[in-house]
Amino acid sequence: MKQLAGLVPRQGLSRCFIPSIRNISAGRVRDGEDEVQDVVIGAGVVGVCTAYSLARQGRKVKVLDQSSGPAHGSSWINGTLVCPSLMLPWTGPQLIPKVFKSFFQPRHPLKVHPSTLCSLDTYYFALHYLASCRPGHSKRTTRRLANMARYSRHCLEALLQDHQELNDHMHRKADGTLQVFDDQAAMHACLDASAEIQHAGVPLRVVQDGEKGEIDDLAARLRSQGLEALYLYSPLDTNGDCAKFTEFLEGQCRELGVAFNYDSSVEGFRYSDGLWEISMPGRAVRARNVILCAGVGSPRLAAHLGLRLPMAPVKGYAITVPLKPGVQQLPSNVVQDSNKLYLAPLGPDLVRITGFAEFAGFDVSVDIRRAAILAEQADRLFPDCLDFDRAEYHAGLRPLSADDVPIIGEAKPNFFLNTGHGSKGWTHAAGSGKLVADLVAGRQPDLDPESYSLRRFFSLHQKDAPFDFQLGTLGLMP
Ligand SMILES: Cc1cc2nc3c(=O)[nH]c(=O)nc-3n(C[C@H](O)[C@H](O)[C@H](O)COP(=O)(O)OP(=O)(O)OC[C@H]3O[C@@H](n4cnc5c(N)ncnc54)[C@H](O)[C@@H]3O)c2cc1C
Repeated sequence: MKQLAGLVPRQGLSRCFIPSIRNISAGRVRDGEDEVQDVVIGAGVVGVCTAYSLARQGRKVKVLDQSSGPAHGSSWINGTLVCPSLMLPWTGPQLIPKVFKSFFQPRHPLKVHPSTLCSLDTYYFALHYLASCRPGHSKRTTRRLANMARYSRHCLEALLQDHQELNDHMHRKADGTLQVFDDQAAMHACLDASAEIQHAGVPLRVVQDGEKGEIDDLAARLRSQGLEALYLYSPLDTNGDCAKFTEFLEGQCRELGVAFNYDSSVEGFRYSDGLWEISMPGRAVRARNVILCAGVGSPRLAAHLGLRLPMAPVKGYAITVPLKPGVQQLPSNVVQDSNKLYLAPLGPDLVRITGFAEFAGFDVSVDIRRAAILAEQADRLFPDCLDFDRAEYHAGLRPLSADDVPIIGEAKPNFFLNTGHGSKGWTHAAGSGKLVADLVAGRQPDLDPESYSLRRFFSLHQKDAPFDFQLGTLGLMP
């Protein structure tokens, strides 16, 4: 089995900090090799979309990344799903018993590795996560995720209209998403929870028995395998290879004048005379604005500024498997709710299977026993269709924020964040890039930026922290 490399940064401890209010101080920027208007850190799908939106506004942009090319981090191999219909958050009171259950069930999609329990970062994340799971928060969180996904889908569509060749380039294939449930109760629970998603303009419909159409045929095919399944379908969803998309958009950015500096590992920041100095081994770049899009590497970099981001890397598995000869490609993405299993068609003859959420620090090794569970579940859903002898296995890290909503906005004077996209970064990339670019340029954004600001998280030094104690009193924080 083949494992492709992921990125393995190390996360450090930092001080808790309440972000500052917007304060634009205009340092003078000279156009030159090492002085630009905007520096984007990270050339994953989020960073490249951000650079593209900035460049489209006529700004001078430089992108720095520690890797040797675009999309070498989480964006390299993911589920390919661009799915506004799947915006139910990974938070909520119903999640807490599942977390405890996972400790005793080796086949559970969720796993917390004991090694992570030794890290204070885990507890910082966990406190924020628990706070986000309080009853009454799910609706607001779903609305934020769905609004961003709907907006992002709109931005992506505009891009696809401008560059129609991109459809083939990114092996776009899925026309919607079919969600499969084991029983009526599970489907109706999902429909109820998805009210905010529909409210955001994402259509969902129940596929009835006996309907005609490609999706209905697929539903019938699943039913014929004896699955007591019900189906929920959203036509707004699509898919595509995230890395191919990012590479393509990187090329478009270059045409707009964006400079990309690879093998450039950012080590720290200094702010003076209205300019940020971004230091890398042996050199520095100066810029008026910095936009941090470093995925799972973001908390470590933000810590240099005293910013503490409640984020954790969450490992997921991806299997790329060819269809057996003569097997018809899936017309849509397929999600099996009970196993949290995701399948997506990739080009004419490949299927990408993804699933699992493991808290394992920055480890991206493939545990063959865990990967085999996913393969087995997919094989049971589509028996005799997938050629697992030729499958490629991969594990990657989702940069998850504690409430599953991305962290976007200005966190220090002229220092912006666009990170923490978790399992939804490819779906959110085009929209979040546009949102942060509008904020940088001082334009009125199309979405309410406050919903995504770091300010929504309580500070453990604040008096209104929703716990009876403050971490500082336990000596865990400076
Ligand atoms: C298994 C799996 C399946 C997924 N499936 C889906 C899906 O189907 N749909 C969906 O919407 N999302 C999905 N996701 C989530 C999605 O892939 C991520 O949210 C998204 O790729 C994050 O993009 P990013 O640009 O923020 O991070 P990255 O792609 O990781 O980019 C961050 C970049 O920052 C760079 N960097 C980090 N630190 C530094 C530093 N110090 N100096 C310079 N550069 C630095 C890295 O090299 C990297 O290139 C999945 C994720 C996984 C792991």
